[in-house]
Amino acid sequence: AKQRGKANWVRYASGMELPAQAHARLGGDLRRALDQGELRVVYQPIVGLADGRVLGVEALVRWAHPERGMVSPADFIPAAERTGLIVPLGRFVLREACRQAAAWLAEFGPEVLQKVAPNVSVRQLHDPDFVADVRAALADHGLGPDRLVLELTESAVLRGQQVLRVLHELHDMGVRLALDDFGTGESSLSLLRSFPASIVKLDKSFVDGIEFDEPGTAAADARQAVARAVVQLAGALGLDTVAEGIENQEQADRLLRLGYTVGQGYHLGRPVSAEEITALFAAQRAA
Ligand code: C2E
Ligand code: CA
Ligand code: CA
Ligand code: CA
Repeated sequence: AKQRGKANWVRYASGMELPAQAHARLGGDLRRALDQGELRVVYQPIVGLADGRVLGVEALVRWAHPERGMVSPADFIPAAERTGLIVPLGRFVLREACRQAAAWLAEFGPEVLQKVAPNVSVRQLHDPDFVADVRAALADHGLGPDRLVLELTESAVLRGQQVLRVLHELHDMGVRLALDDFGTGESSLSLLRSFPASIVKLDKSFVDGIEFDEPGTAAADARQAVARAVVQLAGALGLDTVAEGIENQEQADRLLRLGYTVGQGYHLGRPVSAEEITALFAAQRAA
């Protein structure tokens, strides 16, 4: 793949509705992208806050568009969900993540990588083949189900009994489920009781600014209160936590004091290619 600079990152007016035509074009482009192998998976370290050890990686999709350069998933995932292409796209990311995790485990042994965590969209959960796809992705690459974490957002999970049945099936298989962007959705507390989650990921919005606590900065205090409540609730329910979007050491220190032991964010490691993660594991083994 061609290396492109930051200036070539093209954004499809992120956060805004695209005109219908642009949507249609994007959908067609995405279909081709999938068929032509323009999609890539990058991996972001999930790290022990006390010692900096890499415990796992989140798998995130990237689109290396031949003319537009790198397209952000924030811009094409919504289109993929609308068109249904998220199902084959998600299957690609799932399989690629399982293949790569199995390769890392074979090269470095079980100590180096505890978990690989792809994102799963609600449309995938409604696909009747989803559980079979997960089973096949694990079996085809010889990856144990206990190595796989599926990241789901609360909104995805809230949609109905059928989805809940699928989630219980996955849980019974030994696959872990993580509630992504935790705290941003609705009825988080009641959800946690019915949902077979093993991990909650504290949303970045509660981490932003959490390091400040001068008098008068009520917003930071509120973030600290939410972060503390989430980690206490998770502890009481026997769930693990990951604090997301950590951008500096002060945030990491603060979260550690609040009771978080695992985090993720640019300060701890940006999403990078599989090759760069391999180099990281090699360095970690040598240390
Ligand atoms: P997410 O699942 O919440 O993933 C975390 C996002 O935050 C990633 O953005 C990651 O690069 C970014 N991030 C991590 N640490 C930091 C930090 O310290 N500061 C800041 N500012 N950002 C940080 P990315 O890769 O652009 O993905 C955006 C969203 O797109 C993801 O949010 C996820 O909802 C969705 N997505 C990405 N890949 C997939 C996929 O394969 N399938 C599905 N269904 N959704 C995906
Ligand atoms: Ca995620
Ligand atoms: Ca998240
Ligand atoms: Ca998010």
